[in-house]
Amino acid sequence: MLILVVNCGSSSIKYKLMDMEQETVLLSGLAERIGIAGSRIKQESQAGKELVLEQDLPNHKVALETILKCITDQTYGAISDISMIKAVGHRVVHGGEEFNKSVLINDELIKVLEELSDLAPLHNPPNVVGIKTCREILPGIPHVAVFDTAFHQSIPKHAFMYGIPYQYYEKYKIRKYGFHGTSHKYVSGRAAEILGKSVEELKIIVCHLGNGSSITAVGNGVSVDTTMGFTPLAGLPMGTRTGDIDPAIVTFLMEKENLSIDETNNLLNKQSGVLGVSGISSDFRDLEDAANQGNERAELALSMFAYSINKWIGAFTAALGGLDVVVFTGGIGENSKDMRARVLKGLAYTGLEIDEEKNNSRGKEVIISKPGSPITAMVVPTNEELMIARETKVLATR
Ligand code: ADP
Repeated sequence: MLILVVNCGSSSIKYKLMDMEQETVLLSGLAERIGIAGSRIKQESQAGKELVLEQDLPNHKVALETILKCITDQTYGAISDISMIKAVGHRVVHGGEEFNKSVLINDELIKVLEELSDLAPLHNPPNVVGIKTCREILPGIPHVAVFDTAFHQSIPKHAFMYGIPYQYYEKYKIRKYGFHGTSHKYVSGRAAEILGKSVEELKIIVCHLGNGSSITAVGNGVSVDTTMGFTPLAGLPMGTRTGDIDPAIVTFLMEKENLSIDETNNLLNKQSGVLGVSGISSDFRDLEDAANQGNERAELALSMFAYSINKWIGAFTAALGGLDVVVFTGGIGENSKDMRARVLKGLAYTGLEIDEEKNNSRGKEVIISKPGSPITAMVVPTNEELMIARETKVLATR
């Protein structure tokens, strides 16, 4: 069964064609700069054939039509006809309180998603455009929506409410939602599988560390708490996002710097985090290089990040009533042995000992704590597309 996984952003579309018999990726690609000059599609097939197509992609419809041509291209594609695609899985950022699991898409659902756009104005509208267009181009097959927020709908009310007047929860649905749910679900499940245990019997903390970073406490196989909140701005300091700060800083800066709402949003989302602190880069490779050369602010940004992770691990151990497994994933979690080592050294008080040799690896599933450690530390590369394809398969074959 062939499933197309689509992740539609405002100016980009990521896609993967998956064969669900063996759960293999037949090809993956990215359409960039949609609606902007210099748009192009990059695609790589399982056979290693790379296609770079520089072509005007004025809108998502043209982009998706062109993607389907690339997928069925005689030389660079993986299939001869689009009718071989049996279902499409769509990543949707915000499912609000309405969705605690993936759903088959119909006209009514699209209306609900449009209503939810208020909660995720940057993310949901392009997701909806992608869904509508894909249904037009690939009619007659099941389309499934897989939500970034769904896994976190198990978080109890005392953990998802904020200390603001209750009426704003009722009026605007202001509460913690959490994101990266598909990744946290996949990684916690896979970690249990690797350890030969059922996910229900483990207390797991998943650290998804990438451009956007979030940590989730998983108990009994469900999300108990997570660091991102009403939006993905909360929790850890990230590449360019603040993470948690005293909310009074926002109005203070707006007044002192005479900032508009747009400028403030830009400051908090695009100019802050490790980029803002270091003044160098949002990319952890650059920061590690700079810190190794003695740059103090790069070092400060890295220590703030590690310290924040350690604080959250402590808090979530309390939320879970103990801890069995810490898992690292995402671009930084999978690739940076230095960041993993910083965090694990901060957990020495638990008796956890890092296996430096095992930790010296990139992008692989590996246990990086020494045998006999009271807490197991491991790396599990995330695979959100596989998770989306699996959920799509289940709903499409029901
Ligand atoms: P996104 O949140 O956009 O999905 P990723 O999970 O792909 O991001 O993570 C991207 C980040 O991973 C980069 O910004 C970079 O900081 C970090 N990264 C990638 N490779 C390494 C590496 N070898 N060492 C340190 N950091 C890395």
